[in-house]
Amino acid sequence: MSDVAIIGGGPTGLNAAIYTARADRRTLVFDDGGGTTRDVDTMENVYGFPGGVTGPELVDLGREHAQKYGAEIVEEEVVRIEPDDDRYRVETTVDEYTVDGVIIATGANYERPAIADVEPYEGHGVSYCVECDAYFYRDSPVAVVGTDNYAATEALMLLDYTDDVRILTNGSPFEADEELRERVAEAEIPVVTDDLDRLVGDETLESVVTRDGDEIPVDGLFVALGTAGGTDLAEMLGVPVDGDDVVTDSDQSTPVDRVYAAGDVTGGHQQIATSIGEGARAAINLLEELRGADYIDYKKLDSQPA
Ligand SMILES: Cc1cc2nc3c(=O)[nH]c(=O)nc-3n(C[C@H](O)[C@H](O)[C@H](O)COP(=O)(O)OP(=O)(O)OC[C@H]3O[C@@H](n4cnc5c(N)ncnc54)[C@H](O)[C@@H]3O)c2cc1C
Repeated sequence: MSDVAIIGGGPTGLNAAIYTARADRRTLVFDDGGGTTRDVDTMENVYGFPGGVTGPELVDLGREHAQKYGAEIVEEEVVRIEPDDDRYRVETTVDEYTVDGVIIATGANYERPAIADVEPYEGHGVSYCVECDAYFYRDSPVAVVGTDNYAATEALMLLDYTDDVRILTNGSPFEADEELRERVAEAEIPVVTDDLDRLVGDETLESVVTRDGDEIPVDGLFVALGTAGGTDLAEMLGVPVDGDDVVTDSDQSTPVDRVYAAGDVTGGHQQIATSIGEGARAAINLLEELRGADYIDYKKLDSQPA
């Protein structure tokens, strides 16, 4: 039986998990402890709760419901997803998992760094995806803006393309886990904690200027703030994004086999009701696709000589 990774433990991901777990698929729900739902004191318009419900209570009830059918909650932050033969490899800050299908349900998450003039350089030096754009900065000076595990892993990955990599924390402490901090130090990636002021360059990015007026030459600036958002993970798989949203078909599918997205990460009405509806739709259609894949596998097995 195929395994499913659901990235996001909010209402969308948990509702999807109820369906995949009930269908006996090993269901891993990755949850890094964040998300919008947990932040909301009273949720209105939620079916079955005429007096409203707190976000944390809604998440707890959803977890209980999904776990009842065997869904496993993995309290780890996903930093990378990539194809692995016919399957997908999900990398967290702690471990790696291989699955057959993926539902991206990471909620709304897209942060621009607090530096002047970022927007005009997007696509002209500023990127939100190492996987997509690092290739264009081979042997060039690049930097990652961020403070956490996500920033550390992106910086380490950039070493495949250039030796000139630094991490810019924009005035915040560098808070990646110890193991990642050690790997960054071993790789001699400088971590610059100065406050950043603005970007400069003639049409394309040339440098980042600190509040103290120091100029750091960079051709490519990779934004990796907070955790890897749904659009970052989608781009790693070649799933199209439009601004802050992962683009799906009306059945929540993406052009990538067995990869679906649902909930706030796809934009739309961004309500609990619409999000859980999309979660259910993603799960039902992923199961359908997996059944097709399983069927083909059995046929292949049957045709093997005894
Ligand atoms: C202030 C406010 C009030 C709102 N009030 C209402 C309301 O009254 N009624 C209503 O219907 N809607 C309301 N909404 C909208 C509602 O909160 C969202 O539609 C809903 O939370 C979307 O759920 P989701 O599961 O898609 O995303 P989220 O609830 O944001 O869940 C995302 C999940 O993904 C996880 N995650 C993200 N990235 C990673 C990663 N890299 N690795 C591992 N896990 C990851 C997070 O930890 C979280 O578990 C409100 C929103 C806001 C901001």
